[in-house]
Amino acid sequence: MRKKLLLFLFILPVIFILLSGCDFPYQDHSAPATTGGDFTVYFIDVDQADSALVICDGEAMLIDGGNVGDSDLIYTFLTDKNITYLDYVVCTHAHEDHVGGLSGALNAAAAGTVFCPVDSYDSGAFENFKSAVSKQGLELTAPAAGSAFTLGGAEVSILGPLFEYADTNNTSIVLKITYGDTSFLFTGDMERDAELDLIEEYGSALSSDVLKTGHHGSVTSSSYVFLYEVSPAYAVISCGKDNSYGHPHEEVLSRLRDADVTLFRTDMQGTITCTSDGVNIYFETERNSDAVTNPTETSGDGAVYIGNVNSKKPHLQTCTSLPEEKNRVIFHSLEEAYALGYEGCSICMK
Ligand SMILES: [Zn+2]
Ligand SMILES: [Zn+2]
Repeated sequence: MRKKLLLFLFILPVIFILLSGCDFPYQDHSAPATTGGDFTVYFIDVDQADSALVICDGEAMLIDGGNVGDSDLIYTFLTDKNITYLDYVVCTHAHEDHVGGLSGALNAAAAGTVFCPVDSYDSGAFENFKSAVSKQGLELTAPAAGSAFTLGGAEVSILGPLFEYADTNNTSIVLKITYGDTSFLFTGDMERDAELDLIEEYGSALSSDVLKTGHHGSVTSSSYVFLYEVSPAYAVISCGKDNSYGHPHEEVLSRLRDADVTLFRTDMQGTITCTSDGVNIYFETERNSDAVTNPTETSGDGAVYIGNVNSKKPHLQTCTSLPEEKNRVIFHSLEEAYALGYEGCSICMK
């Protein structure tokens, strides 16, 4: 009996050494391994604008840079993270709230490739961006839809724009980033027309875990059919608190609720940090981590009120004198409107 025990004690470490030195036959090496979380997307809080920094295995890509007034913020964000080289800089489209702060980025870091759908655009912000690019001896590159490149261990596919569009928002560069089993879709300010073209071209290949919601949550983007194809588990909306466009629009919030999407918002939660280990996705927010970003229950009767940012009057959705789209702000209750100094419309709220 004793002999057997001694033999067992002797054999045990031998078995252990043998096992640790070789692969277990049931390990599947083709499956994506967790990589220790070396993939990060920062959805930077640039108020009513857009900017995201993607870092993977030491390589960096900046997608948009916010407004001109965000240049310093972007500069500091990059220098704080010791980023002196951006492998890729993407200007999704020429609008100021995307291109404005890219000059700050190009002052902070040297760039490898700078993508932009157009070579010229009639605005001071675009001119500044272009001269910051040429100062580095670089030129703007219009990426071809269907092309792809790597960012560390991540693969970045350029899905759009598929065609030339008259509307600048629709010219937005569309990127799908895949890291292991996890994926992220960036659509700039692309609107419904371009979304439908993407569906036609890619169908269910648009499917992504995280969607940077198009056009700051405007009703002109994130159509039902598009959300159905992408079927994200998470969405991020970049917009400013109490912005004059009323972003995000209630219609989009409602579509995201219907699709059971967990929503993060820069207006409520500041900069949002998203990491992936190739299998799981984690979110961290600068503030208000448990904010109710997409309430299902509105106070009162559940009605939505449309306020006029100029006249400070709230209206029922059915009112015959609704303000122009650009002057709207959405309230979920009259109390919310009254708290901001709004007073009833003479037509719909007698
Ligand atoms: Zn925008
Ligand atoms: Zn735009």
